[in-house]
Amino acid sequence: MKPPNSLSLDSILDEPVPFAFDLHFSAKALDREPLLEVSPVLLEGEVSRIEKGFAFDARLSYGGRLECSRCLGSYPFEAREDFSLVLRKRKAPAGVDVLLQSEDLNEYFYDDPVIAVAPIAEERIQMAVPMKPLCREDCKGLCPECGQDRNVTACGCVVETLDPRWEALRVLKKV
Ligand SMILES: [Zn+2]
Ligand SMILES: [Zn+2]
Repeated sequence: MKPPNSLSLDSILDEPVPFAFDLHFSAKALDREPLLEVSPVLLEGEVSRIEKGFAFDARLSYGGRLECSRCLGSYPFEAREDFSLVLRKRKAPAGVDVLLQSEDLNEYFYDDPVIAVAPIAEERIQMAVPMKPLCREDCKGLCPECGQDRNVTACGCVVETLDPRWEALRVLKKV
């Protein structure tokens, strides 16, 4: 019996082996600031034996909610990513340090031929979360004066963009 959410490479012979996993992550565990919620993640594809190891061709599909970096509102998103990895057995000569992670993001080294797939999906999702997501291209954001969401209300505040040199003078005058 192999553990759940894993692939046993030893059982892959001449024919590619299809797979489909439903993976559950919490947004907290994924630990990416703008990610508020994440749906179950579908990881499907196939693994085949190749000369250097195994080819892992997969598609990730998931959704959830992100926090807009301008208006701080939460909005739904859908994501889908196709990717391919080469899985290679790590050769670890005694007494020699071997780098865990290959320089090449598309290579993945393993010791145990039973591969847990959740960490692979987790890493992909973390890389895919945008640093500064926007609920829409032209999100107007929050008013720096009154804090209202300018997508909802036109508050009418006049926001002065001060020349930093004048700003420095103003600070001096106050002293
Ligand atoms: Zn927004
Ligand atoms: Zn305002």
